[in-house]
Amino acid sequence: MDCLFCKIIKREVPADVVYEDQNFVAFNDINPKAPLHILIVPKKHISSIDSLEDQEKELIGELFLTAKKIAKEQGVSSKDGRGYKLMFNVGKEGGQIIDHLHLHLLGKWNNDK
Ligand code: 5GP
Ligand code: ZN
Repeated sequence: MDCLFCKIIKREVPADVVYEDQNFVAFNDINPKAPLHILIVPKKHISSIDSLEDQEKELIGELFLTAKKIAKEQGVSSKDGRGYKLMFNVGKEGGQIIDHLHLHLLGKWNNDK
């Protein structure tokens, strides 16, 4: 399958990977829209939120727990007085360019803290 994020997961295309476990890879966005901009990507190829099936409930739950873990590692947890945004783009009009599900984690606007 000709999918850029599948190629990043398989290390066929380089990326600045910041986190990996059995189900997810996270890497820095090549064109960051915030001082911290990480894409959290399930290793399973799912095209978008609109392609989700009931059987992916658990994986999507884990995706949010992984986002929380990465935010903590990156020093933006609200429990440490910081904070961040999580965002999905869905489909063309929603601004989705890459048709492999990914959660944007954005933060560190207040870099002086
Ligand atoms: P989307 O608009 O599909 O929600 O987000 C896709 C994101 O992937 C964009 O923010 C874009 O900058 C990022 N991106 C596109 N190509 C690459 C790439 O080759 N490497 C990395 N690290 N990010 C990419
Ligand atoms: Zn893919």
